[in-house]
Amino acid sequence: MFFQKFQRFMYGRYGSDGFSFFLLLLALVCTFLGSLFFWPLTLLADAVYIYTVFRMFSRNIPARQREYYAFLKVWGPVKSWFALQKRKFSERKYTRYFKCPQCKQQLRAPRGRGKIEVTCQRCHHVFITKT
Ligand SMILES: [Zn+2]
Repeated sequence: MFFQKFQRFMYGRYGSDGFSFFLLLLALVCTFLGSLFFWPLTLLADAVYIYTVFRMFSRNIPARQREYYAFLKVWGPVKSWFALQKRKFSERKYTRYFKCPQCKQQLRAPRGRGKIEVTCQRCHHVFITKT
C-alpha cells in the first residue's frame, strides 16, 4: 500500500544516479568531519543533503541529467587516474610504466629487459629507455 503510493509519487521524478550517491557520501563525510573538528561543515552537509533530496524528487529530468553529465566529465578522469594507479601498483614487479617524451602518452614495458627502443603507438616517436 505505502510502497505503491510511493511509486505513484515518484512517477515522472528523477530518482537517484551516481551523482546523488557521490553527494550522499560527500555529505556523510562532511557530517563526520564537522562533528569532530569544525561544526560549520555540518551546515554544508545539511545543504548537500537538501540538494540531493531536491534532485531525487525533481521533475525537471533534463536539467538533472545535465548535472549528471557535468559530474561525469569531472569524475571520469579522476576515476581512471585511480584505476591506473591501482594497475601500476599491482603490476609493479613485472611492468615499468613511463611516458612518451613527445606526447606524454602513458606507455609500459616488461621489467628487466635493459635498454630498449620504444616506438610510441600514438605519435610514432622512437626513443630509448631502461626497463
Ligand atoms: Zn608519443
